[in-house]
Amino acid sequence: MGNRRVKGEITISVVSERDTSLPIQSQFKFNGHVGYLEAVIEAIKIHTQKNSDYSGGGGQDDDPLANFKGSVEFGIDPGLGIILRIQDKFQRVKAFAKSGRLAVVNESVEDAMLDIANYALLYLALRSEIEEEYPFVGYVCNLCGYKEAVITRPIITNLRDNACGHCDHGVMVWSEEGE
Ligand SMILES: [Zn+2]
Repeated sequence: MGNRRVKGEITISVVSERDTSLPIQSQFKFNGHVGYLEAVIEAIKIHTQKNSDYSGGGGQDDDPLANFKGSVEFGIDPGLGIILRIQDKFQRVKAFAKSGRLAVVNESVEDAMLDIANYALLYLALRSEIEEEYPFVGYVCNLCGYKEAVITRPIITNLRDNACGHCDHGVMVWSEEGE
């Protein structure tokens, strides 16, 4: 296998009429594997394709995260929903790896890996949205005093009932101060 390093200027420019947070413009020097670059571009194409195909059933004006946000109706946090899908794809990849067939050119593995990458990026997209919309609130351990700033919604779990992850004995209770 030869060295497939590439170096060069990357320019990303996206202009949207609907979203005032755009245009997104980014220009930087790329220095890495050409296969990585090809995979990133492929992941973007797949994301676009999926949104054109079936996002919420209404075409391209729908929220790309609609499928995940809908899980709230079933008591599942959207972020957790994305993680579960990553796990599902991960299981498939793991099965291939165990069978020793990962070394073979296998479209299923390629698809699963690209899906995992896209789910991970969508998770970050969801999180940035949540951080914009929901304020952090403070939780403090009633035993050791450990403090944590948490986004409470749309996360369904009631953190007030949660054990402290720091001392393992106390209970995280909501504090007014937040952050
Ligand atoms: Zn504690």
